[in-house]
Amino acid sequence: MKKRTKAVHSGTRRSQYGEVSEAIFLTQGFVYETAEAAEARFLQSGDDEFIYARYGNPTVRMFEERAAALEGTEDGFATASGMAAVNGALTSMLKAGDHVVSSKALFGSCLYILEDILPRYGVDVTFVDGDDLAAWQAALRPDTKAVFFESLSNPTLDVVDIKAVSDLAHAVGATVIVDNVFSTPVFSKAAELGADVIVYSATKHMDGQGRALGGIILGTREFIRKTVEPYLKHTGGAMSPFTAWIMLKGLETMELRVNAQADTALHFAQGLQGHVGLANVIFPHLQDHPAYELSKAQMDKGGTVVALDVKGGQAAAFKVMNKLQIFTISNNLGDAKSIVTHPATTTHQRLSEDQRASLGITPGLLRISIGLEDADDLLEDFQQALNCLD
Ligand SMILES: *Cc1c(COP(=O)(O)O)cnc(C)c1O
Repeated sequence: MKKRTKAVHSGTRRSQYGEVSEAIFLTQGFVYETAEAAEARFLQSGDDEFIYARYGNPTVRMFEERAAALEGTEDGFATASGMAAVNGALTSMLKAGDHVVSSKALFGSCLYILEDILPRYGVDVTFVDGDDLAAWQAALRPDTKAVFFESLSNPTLDVVDIKAVSDLAHAVGATVIVDNVFSTPVFSKAAELGADVIVYSATKHMDGQGRALGGIILGTREFIRKTVEPYLKHTGGAMSPFTAWIMLKGLETMELRVNAQADTALHFAQGLQGHVGLANVIFPHLQDHPAYELSKAQMDKGGTVVALDVKGGQAAAFKVMNKLQIFTISNNLGDAKSIVTHPATTTHQRLSEDQRASLGITPGLLRISIGLEDADDLLEDFQQALNCLD
């Protein structure tokens, strides 16, 4: 089956009623015919046997199977949020004394896990510039258990070479964990490029309509069922069945939505290039992006986020935000509605000024998540806002 067919059919489990649309099993638990059956299921539960919704649930299982089929991995574990997925992927496999190498250009909460939480439990973390292969090579050690990076970083859209970093990591036996949100599940080739574990915030493109928080960890059956599941089922980061249903239905339309959003994002970025009010337009599939060739090879389209550096710093950036008519000021991304975010004062506020500067998060930087509106309407809206600057 090709991706679009899998997006509609993979993972479907029909009940005895033969429903067309996937059922929502809003139940915390499951009954057993006999005491012996309960004992047997706790000992070893089969594919269609469930115990307790923190461990697994038919609606959640449908979502896990569909997401894994789309990504091309053997299995997946759904979580309550994207951060539960990032934390679950890392914490389930690490122990005190282990070493991790991570790119430093990370979403604020990911940075918190790697910089604050893991070291508290005795995990040694080395940070590198994600696009510097020599730095990855130098940081990797025989005791490196995992490498972690965002394949396309938030919000400055730095590109990490998944294949090259995976090859280096595998040479020392480390597991490659990729936060692939900005690359989107639609354009991802992470599994075939060598990533072992792929993590998504389902809140973003999988839902795509701003309704629910969720996440998923994708990988081999061995890793998901032997390492991730025991950790998550006992620590409580499970996805709710209702959320899983939203995400399942989101996956059915994801490819159509994300392709349209990515086309509009390119049109938007091209249309704003060279605007007098902008110091920089960042989009991976613009020819002047430093990793243009790599991102073309790694992703069929450039994603759905554009970063713009407004001349005149924070005051000018705020002025532009407040003039926008169609874009909403918020901090989600991948949504049907186009969204503008000022990272320095919101998503990346916690970072020091120096950290922000080293990541390219300037006071004038705006992160634009392109939605499903008309491409020309979006461009014109942004142009009229920029034209209000003198
Ligand atoms: C949003 C996001 C997350 C966290 O996802 P939540 O669903 O908000 O918990 C993690 N990584 C990246 C790159 C994100 O954009």
